[in-house]
Amino acid sequence: MIDFDALSAPLPQALASAVRRLAQLAHTHAWNQWAVQRLTPTQRRILDFLGSRHDNITLTAVARELGVTAATASDSVSALETKGLLRKRRSHVDGRALALMLTTEGRHSVTQLAALPDPLQTAFGSLSGDEQELFYRSAMKMLRDLQESGALPVSRMCVRCRYFDPFRHSDSATPHHCNLVGAALADRHLRIDCPEHEPGDKQTQLALWSRFSRCAPGAPPCPAADAPGSDGVDQSSPPPD
Ligand code: SF4
Repeated sequence: MIDFDALSAPLPQALASAVRRLAQLAHTHAWNQWAVQRLTPTQRRILDFLGSRHDNITLTAVARELGVTAATASDSVSALETKGLLRKRRSHVDGRALALMLTTEGRHSVTQLAALPDPLQTAFGSLSGDEQELFYRSAMKMLRDLQESGALPVSRMCVRCRYFDPFRHSDSATPHHCNLVGAALADRHLRIDCPEHEPGDKQTQLALWSRFSRCAPGAPPCPAADAPGSDGVDQSSPPPD
């Protein structure tokens, strides 16, 4: 009798192979579209980054966000400037630094690029709602781990935010809570890059993560030991309105 466990790659290896194929599809498709728009992947990411922020973004912040060297970021920024998609001006925060901002044409490009068909989105559409939500939660864990190890730049995720209160409503379909807006969230609502995010201190982030990763949506309520505040999250002050 064939033992498929002996014949098969370990599951992490098989998953990596499957995800690599999905990434290949996304990459090839994106390259074709960016080539039409005369953009490299780095230039596209810079446009997306600037389009998602309203504050003074410096070259250093761009390099940190993209995980590239300042020299690489500088080359791409110069190319975008030559194309008329962004411009530099004195930073409001630090008059010695230059801030980057999109031109009207740059904003138009960001809107156009966001509207292009995305084969990865189409592929995820073939999963059920529950499967999509589970995948999203799993991706959240992987992203957070990769950020912790330094393999990815830290992003403005709910699970790092001082307003996040995971599993406050643990017996509900929307178990989490955002104390900034005073509303309940499901896993599918969790943000990876939220403009209103405010980082919690290290201890708060660890406590948030401990609670988020140990409890599961749809599972019985977390044990009493996980009640709000017991993980070290400061729940003493009332949520901001
Ligand atoms: S402010 Fe944004 S990042 Fe923070 S908990 Fe609310 S939705 Fe999440």
